[in-house]
Amino acid sequence: MSCPTDSIRALFRGQLLQGESMCLHTSLKTGGPADIYAIPEDAEDLRILLPWLAEQSIPWFPVGRGNNLLVGDKGIRGAVISLERFNRIEAIGELLIKAEAGAENLAVVRFAQKLGLGGIGFISGIPGTIGGAIKMNAGAYGEGILERADHLTLLRGGAVRDFRIDELDYGYRHLRLEDGDIVLAAVFRLDSREPHHTEDEIRKDVELRRSKHNVGYPSAGSFFKNPHGHAVWRLIDAAGMRGEKVGGAQVSEVHSNFFVNTGGATTQDFLDLAARVKNAVLTTSGVTLEEEVRIVGEI
Ligand SMILES: Cc1cc2nc3c(=O)[nH]c(=O)nc-3n(C[C@H](O)[C@H](O)[C@H](O)COP(=O)(O)OP(=O)(O)OC[C@H]3O[C@@H](n4cnc5c(N)ncnc54)[C@H](O)[C@@H]3O)c2cc1C
Repeated sequence: MSCPTDSIRALFRGQLLQGESMCLHTSLKTGGPADIYAIPEDAEDLRILLPWLAEQSIPWFPVGRGNNLLVGDKGIRGAVISLERFNRIEAIGELLIKAEAGAENLAVVRFAQKLGLGGIGFISGIPGTIGGAIKMNAGAYGEGILERADHLTLLRGGAVRDFRIDELDYGYRHLRLEDGDIVLAAVFRLDSREPHHTEDEIRKDVELRRSKHNVGYPSAGSFFKNPHGHAVWRLIDAAGMRGEKVGGAQVSEVHSNFFVNTGGATTQDFLDLAARVKNAVLTTSGVTLEEEVRIVGEI
């Protein structure tokens, strides 16, 4: 019997996995199988894969390392495209560093450090890739990574195009992209900085996270965005929700905006817990919380 992916396997050089469990690819360790989990080798592979998916009417979306994803228990009807092999980092000008989407955040900071460049030390301890960080405008200490970006290389409608950062719409933990856009790379404009200053920044960040974010269980970092003018963990505490549990999902005892998988949690547990917390916060504080984690797939 022929397999639906047979027609592309001869051309595609990367990996095409079928029925791949998404709990292997998410920091929350939940989520059902993706029909297709594709790991293209390079841009040429993407040029083969995307038209094939379009021909077959297979929906798809890109992922980094799944540190901000909550995938439905029934999985993903369609394809997930991992850009993990797009991980080159290079200097392209005196103060400019180009990082491909699959490069790990810390690797980019370290690369810049070696060249005596800095200014993005605040992403050192944020788990994930440049693609995920750009899409989420990931950040810490009031800074977002897009403030440091000069331009992005996007694959849009089959064409590769550079966008200056001021051409794009972005804000706190979001960048507006069109459906079907893939961030291929980002160019960062950095400052001259002594490597030991960057080392201090990295150590401070990693240490702070070790002490503050070490919640002892798998998480996706902050579950909700901070509503304007509020610290979400305070709202959750005020609603008496710290430690609240549904099945294996729990509001962390250590950091109440982290939801953790204490073992055997399903995505439904997280969704039920989120609904309970949102309800309690609305009742006690009148504030509607919005998820920072991206909820995808069939529930
Ligand atoms: C312990 C812990 C601490 C954290 N602390 C922070 C923090 O301090 N600050 C913070 O901002 N976040 C934090 N996070 C959340 C998470 O690390 C960030 O959102 C990170 O940027 C996600 O990167 P990723 O590569 O894992 O992306 P994923 O989770 O794989 O994807 C996130 C989103 O980006 C999209 N995406 C990924 N790659 C691409 C691409 N190439 N093109 C287009 N879209 C793409 C995906 O479709 C998805 O919508 C934390 C998470 C954990 C587990």
